[in-house]
Amino acid sequence: MTVNELFAKLHEVPADPKAQMDRYLAEGKKIVLCAPVYTPEEIIHAMGFVPMGAWGADTELRRAKEYCPAFLCSIVQSILELGINGMYDGASAIVIPSLCDTLKTLGENWKYAVPSIPFIPMTYPQNRKPAYGVAFTKAGYERVIRDLEKLGGTFSDEKLAASNAVYNRHNAAMRKLEQVLAKHPEVTACQRSDAFKSAFFLTKEEHTALIEELTAALEQQTPGTEKTPILLSGILADAPAFNAILDEMGLHIVADDVAAQSRQYQTDVPESGDALTALAEKFANMDNCSVLYNAAKPRVKWIVDTAKARGAKGVLVALTKFCDPEEFDYVMIKKACESAGIPITVVEIDRQMVQFEQARTNIETFRDMLNM
Ligand code: SF4
Repeated sequence: MTVNELFAKLHEVPADPKAQMDRYLAEGKKIVLCAPVYTPEEIIHAMGFVPMGAWGADTELRRAKEYCPAFLCSIVQSILELGINGMYDGASAIVIPSLCDTLKTLGENWKYAVPSIPFIPMTYPQNRKPAYGVAFTKAGYERVIRDLEKLGGTFSDEKLAASNAVYNRHNAAMRKLEQVLAKHPEVTACQRSDAFKSAFFLTKEEHTALIEELTAALEQQTPGTEKTPILLSGILADAPAFNAILDEMGLHIVADDVAAQSRQYQTDVPESGDALTALAEKFANMDNCSVLYNAAKPRVKWIVDTAKARGAKGVLVALTKFCDPEEFDYVMIKKACESAGIPITVVEIDRQMVQFEQARTNIETFRDMLNM
């Protein structure tokens, strides 16, 4: 397939995740929903289910408001809204990690709001790096395994080792694509978003094949004229209207620190030891994310260093409204970028936005400032 054909295919998937889900169900597969941010998909895959991302959707919140106060982020509220409205019907379970206070409330609300889809908690430790943190994570994974066994899944360390390899290969494919995209300004922000978002709704085997083909095709393509290079940061940046503004303003994302995009793929499962301990060690090795506790906040330096290394003229933070972990980090990121002479701006986004005019004005001013 050509580059455009591949992007068209990658666009179809996030444009209609329900169709994708129905296709897998019609094939007799069982689906387990994976809430943000780091659900152990490898375990779900190894036990014979299709892990499917559940990061909510751009939708009006009505029923979720019966369960959530207005100051919970719209990602969590829209997951609940979709569940209540039957968009996830047919799923065997939802796994919800405990990585922020808002996510902790989601599982409890889910049990009452969507009783037809069992809730499986994944409780992570704050201190994930010491041996006791790895043991705690492993115990959490064992709980997930027991709950999936009740739904008909079967676990073995050999099967998990094979799934770990599948996911490591997908990580590598996504990292390579991200590097290649940085050299291709002709790829739009909308296309880039599709390439990442589609990963949530396809099996990793299918998505890896498409991404590897796309990367190879892009490497054969002559890069287009450079636009204004930026680093994009945030939890989520998948709203088509938001990406259309980036394209309209001639911005080229040369690197991202987006939780739903590259942050997912920075760390592989180590190949040593038993597969379940190795998966717990992967979580211990992860860094550079607002929801992962790090007293030294290496994420801040990572953003500055990556912006410099990729030649970004500025950092655009897409701040999910009411996301405490991102709001806390933003102060440090802003200070560090300013000290390094890297312009930075922030736009607030959420899943209920229909008007992006304020964001457009802010981004347009930022673009003009970068090009002065
Ligand atoms: S990390 Fe932020 S955006 Fe994600 S669920 Fe928690 S509050 Fe919402």
